Formats: sequence, structure tokens, C-alpha cells
Amino acid sequence: MKPVTTATIDLAALRHNLARVRAAAPACRVAAALKANAYGHGLLRAARALADADVFAVARCDEALALREAGVAKPIVVLEGFLQPDEIDLCRQHQLQATVHHESQVRMLELARSGQPVSIWLKIDTGMHRLGFAPARVPAVLERLAACPNAAPNPRLMSHLARADDRADPYTRHQLETFEAVTRGLGAERSLANSGGILGWPETHFDWVRPGIMLYGCTPFDEGVGAEVGLRPVMTLASQLIAIQHYAAGEPVGYGGAWCCPRESRIGVVGIGYGDGYPRHAPSGTPVLVNGRRAPLAGRVSMDMITVDLSDLPDAQVGDPVVLWGCGLPAEEIARQVGTITYELFCKITPRVAVVERVGLSDSDKPTASFENPG
Ligand SMILES: *Cc1c(COP(=O)(O)O)cnc(C)c1O
Repeated sequence: MKPVTTATIDLAALRHNLARVRAAAPACRVAAALKANAYGHGLLRAARALADADVFAVARCDEALALREAGVAKPIVVLEGFLQPDEIDLCRQHQLQATVHHESQVRMLELARSGQPVSIWLKIDTGMHRLGFAPARVPAVLERLAACPNAAPNPRLMSHLARADDRADPYTRHQLETFEAVTRGLGAERSLANSGGILGWPETHFDWVRPGIMLYGCTPFDEGVGAEVGLRPVMTLASQLIAIQHYAAGEPVGYGGAWCCPRESRIGVVGIGYGDGYPRHAPSGTPVLVNGRRAPLAGRVSMDMITVDLSDLPDAQVGDPVVLWGCGLPAEEIARQVGTITYELFCKITPRVAVVERVGLSDSDKPTASFENPG
């Protein structure tokens, strides 16, 4: 039995996108973001494909443990750090580097039983206003860490950009200047850039860059697509036509009759729905690719199915492949239609979708897609 609905993960594209990071920030070390199951692409799969990264970055200790249990020996930084005293022991046991972003963590470290010191990335709030120490508090926190035997010497200094998705937003410059001012002359390794910083703001590169979405082939910017910045899509979400129906003009299609045939229509039923992670709020008109040609979504997304208007594709047959995003249909375009970001589309793929690994584009993909690095 062949799975109807698949997420094909192109491992060569992952490696290409890491090389794209290196080309954009040649002097930097790379912390590859693998949090949230590698943005839905599979934690271990992505870790294996991205073995050239210098560090893996995850959000939580359990994600780091999953990597260690699978035998991944590379340095790992936990971006939210230890949240309970026993997680300090985990960090020691498994050689996990920890972000320290809050007073409670400094105290936890000071009160922990003495043992192997934990490597620290100190998080500074330069304007995201979510995690991190206010710049004015940084010298005092650094002093406490220096005096704490449970903290390894020379913590790295990091901050996170809040608006790097908008290349024109001056807030990134404000954050950069704040970061410069508070870290200058401290002699510490520094890290500020996410994907938006890497591609849009070379001054934010410092010693370590932290790419996420660009590794998975999508632009971090609110306009354009990954191919325009030299990235290749990694995930192609696909299904197939499981039925084709004919309805008269005016007939409603799907739940709520939210879409009615504007003419005599040929309606394709595709075996994918929100139970697979296709967004339920995708509006009618959202494109899919049937045999490499665009057709619009028609009517509400169901749990297991969507309906598409094939009236302009008279050759489409039951069994034909349908791409929801990926090769030939940028996920960025779907995300904007739906009012979200590619990060969320990828994270929401459910375990029902069969994952297929692939290395590079197959010949049948090539006519519909051009992902070569334009520069
Ligand atoms: C997720 C994350 C990143 C990567 O962000 P992208 O926008 O996906 O490149 C970088 N730094 C931190 C702290 C993060 O949490």
C-alpha cells in the first residue's frame, strides 16, 4: 500500500541551505535551529542532514535529550535553558549548553549542588521584550555568573531580533546598536542574527548566527520566496485526486455550502485535510498543483479532504498527484493566502502524513520548478 498523503523531505536541499548560510556569513559559526521537530521536518533527520552545523539549537531540554539518546554528540544549546534544578543535572550529564535569560535561572545555578560547570549563553533583551536581561542588568549578572562555580567561564552573549522579517524596519538597527553598546569590550562571543539577520543585516552576524527557517528553504522576509534568496524548499507536501465529480452551476460544494459552482464545474477531491495539517482556514482560491498545474481550492477544508476546481484542467484524472506546497508551489505563497507564516504551516503537519526522504530533485520535478541559486 502506497501512502496517499506524503511530506517529502529533500535532504540535499537542507544541506544546500546550510551552505547558503555559510556563504552569507562566511566568518561565523552556525547554530542550526532544530526546535519543534526541526520545524516539522523531523528532528533526527534534520540533525543528520545538517551534521556540518557547529551547534544544534533546540528550545527545551527534552528536545536535546532526544538528540543525545539517538547518539548525536554535537554541542547542543537549549534556547529556553534549564527551567528546574533537575534540568541543570541533565545539562551536566548530557553536555548541554544552556541559555540563561532570567534571574530565577541565575539563582538556580547558584543554589545547585556543586558539580561540572554548565556552559552558558546569556540572553540580553535588546527589544524583543520576551526573554532576557535588560541591558542595564547585564554587568551585574555577568559578575554573579563569574563568581558561580556552576557556571562555566566566558558565557556567550546573545539576543534575538524581533522584526528582521521586514528589511525596512529600523527597529533591527536599534536592537543592533543596543546589543553593540552592552556587549562592546567584554571579549565574549556574540550572537544576534536569525535567518532574517543573516540574509538582510550583515552587521548582525557577529560570531555565531542562528538560522532556522532558511535551513528549511523559506525566506524569512514578509515578501518574496526562498528561491529569490538562493534557498531550496525542503518539504513538499503532496496527496492525490481520490475522486472527480461534475456539478451544475449554482450547486454548493462542501461544509456549509461556502462555495458554489460558478458554472458547470469539474470538482476534484484531494486526500488531504486539516487532520494532516493542511490549514482549515485556507480560503477558496488558494492554489494547489495538479500534475504541475495550478487549480484553486473550492469550498471549506475538511478533516481528510479538500475540494478543488478542475474545470480548467480537463485532463486531470483520479490518482493524479497534487502538491499542496513545496516543489513548484512555494509554501510562502500558501502561508500568505492563509494569513500565517511558513513556520506554522510546517509545524502543524500531523503524524498521519507519511514522511518520505529524498536526496535532490527527481527529473519529474524539474520542469515545474526552478530552485537554483540566483546569486
Ligand atoms: C527559532 C530561533 C532562531 C531561528 O529563527 P529563524 O527566524 O527561524 O531563523 C534563532 N534564535 C532563536 C533564539 C530562536 O528561538
